[in-house]
Amino acid sequence: MQLKGRSRKAVLADLKKIRAKDSQYMDGRILCSMCTEPHPAAKAAHKLFLSANLGDAGLFPGTSQLEKEVIGNLATLLSNEKAVGFIVSGGTEANLLALLAARNRAGVSNPEVVLPQSAHFSFNKICSLLRIKPVQASLDSSFRVDPAAAKNCISKNTIAIIGTAGTTELGAVDPIGKLSEIAVAHGIHLHVDAALGGLMLPFMENAPICDFRLEGVASITVDPHKMGLATVPAGGILFRDSTYLEYIKTETPYLTENAQYTFVGTRSGASAAATWAVFETLGREGFTKTVNRVLKLTQFLSVRLKALGFELVTEPTLNIIAFRCSNSKLLARALQQRGWFVSYVPHLDCVRIVVMPHLKKLHITTFLQELTAHTKTHQK
Ligand code: PLP
Repeated sequence: MQLKGRSRKAVLADLKKIRAKDSQYMDGRILCSMCTEPHPAAKAAHKLFLSANLGDAGLFPGTSQLEKEVIGNLATLLSNEKAVGFIVSGGTEANLLALLAARNRAGVSNPEVVLPQSAHFSFNKICSLLRIKPVQASLDSSFRVDPAAAKNCISKNTIAIIGTAGTTELGAVDPIGKLSEIAVAHGIHLHVDAALGGLMLPFMENAPICDFRLEGVASITVDPHKMGLATVPAGGILFRDSTYLEYIKTETPYLTENAQYTFVGTRSGASAAATWAVFETLGREGFTKTVNRVLKLTQFLSVRLKALGFELVTEPTLNIIAFRCSNSKLLARALQQRGWFVSYVPHLDCVRIVVMPHLKKLHITTFLQELTAHTKTHQK
């Protein structure tokens, strides 16, 4: 930091130059992110609530009301009017709160969690932080957790079972109904990580049931900063009822409210306002349209990839496509060098694409053209 400050104009000019180095979702070349360009209503709301801190909610009753309404909307979408929860910093914090509640509720001395091999890496951080032993459950041929394998992982120390509704790598939806039956039979907390799928499945026809209609589901992660088109950071955690909150409560003697239930202390009110603004602006109809558009685009891309001779790792359930060729790692690198941000997943040896709302058909057709050109040159 310099001794003397500079003019706001000069600082902003520098910031604009630096920002220009970042990739922009709207350029249509980011094919690997679960985040997207926020809805214009979210951006406007975020700006309006920049200073609102939900960590000291008594000072911000308006923002607090918005958070309650957002959670109420999510509770309705996930089929349980009694669900309670918070807008947090992301899927990682949401998953952390779920496992914290499950661990404290179970009260066992050597806690273990049944973790499908496909679970998000946030659970590795969480297990390390909370000193919970992860016990890995294997997957079936569709890359969904095998319920029998999950059942075999249960011991007297099991405090939770994790199911994912929209895995990070493939968008697979675990058999949550079967996991729920197992959870009920063993009296274990079932947490559904629907960070991605939570704002897709409720708007899809014939979607598998993954929500609180299933008796065993105790908590659900659903992230507005993914398919909810909200500004970053906006994660969401919902618990079946308010009894779970006792297990994640921390007393906060000097604040306007005497308890907090989130891990993060000072907490973005702008995120709750942005989420509220998107929900109000889009409504169920708008979400249904957005979800159908990305699913249609995903289908279009997967058909074209197959026609080009690529092998799909699995048929897409949501908006994620993973495909292979004889040297997928090299292909991913070549695409990256041409300015396409795709992921390479080493353990599946595939290229992965997430079709988020910032992608238009033109982006996908341009990508396919370049992929075709690359493949032809490569084959020569
Ligand atoms: N859960 C799933 C299924 C995810 O895909 C992700 C992120 O991609 C997370 C949790 C973690 O979310 P965040 O990065 O918002 O903490």
